[in-house]
Amino acid sequence: MEILLTNDDGIYAEGIYRLACALRKAGNVTVVAPDTQRSAVGHAITLTDPLRVTRACRDGKFFGYAASGTPADCVKLGIKAIMKKRPDLVVSGINLGGNQAYNILYSGTVSGATEGALLGIPSMAVSLDTFVKPDFRPAAAFALKLAGRVKRKGLPAGTLLNVNLPNLPAGKLRGVRVTTQSRTSFNDWFDKRTDPHGNTYYWMTGDYKPKDPDEASDLNALRAGYVSVTPIQFDLTDYKFITELQNWDIKL
Ligand code: MN
Repeated sequence: MEILLTNDDGIYAEGIYRLACALRKAGNVTVVAPDTQRSAVGHAITLTDPLRVTRACRDGKFFGYAASGTPADCVKLGIKAIMKKRPDLVVSGINLGGNQAYNILYSGTVSGATEGALLGIPSMAVSLDTFVKPDFRPAAAFALKLAGRVKRKGLPAGTLLNVNLPNLPAGKLRGVRVTTQSRTSFNDWFDKRTDPHGNTYYWMTGDYKPKDPDEASDLNALRAGYVSVTPIQFDLTDYKFITELQNWDIKL
């Protein structure tokens, strides 16, 4: 199996290294990932600058291609310029930090997988729901298992898998839930500060402790100790509202 692997934490992050090591048991892994931290860039692509690609080593060995772009750039580059064969699977991660609920919209990790799905390749994003003391190994092992499943079964056109794991040892994970995207988001605000020259600047911060009444959501699965697998899609049309909006009879 040919696998294209990317992330948004950058090619030198621990999560992508663990995932590459695991996925190599399933096939040929080509890593094309941002050369720096690119978290929360969403589905941005680079149009006004050239994309530079360099060979990145880890542990003294060739690891992959580091690109001066976003995760979506990396997937496009991988498929259209770097890989000799079209991949059977695109995987993005393992992200440090969960990508559940409306956070998906800002996520570079998920957008890497979305780009794969846009290009017609079965794709999945994998994230670990913690920022402290991450253990990526259970997530890497699970991703390897799921990768085989996705390859065999395929995914509907326009659909990708958004996978999140709680930061628990493999023996403490309670199981796997197929979930919905929680309708909650970060509660964020701006720290207003003053720089050494007396000028004001702002730094976004926040917390994420929402109550979610939807038992089936990704958020509640993670809180209960389950691996969350959400099928997501990028057609943003609100089909339920189409008829009503037509009835507005909007005219020139
Ligand atoms: Mn990230």
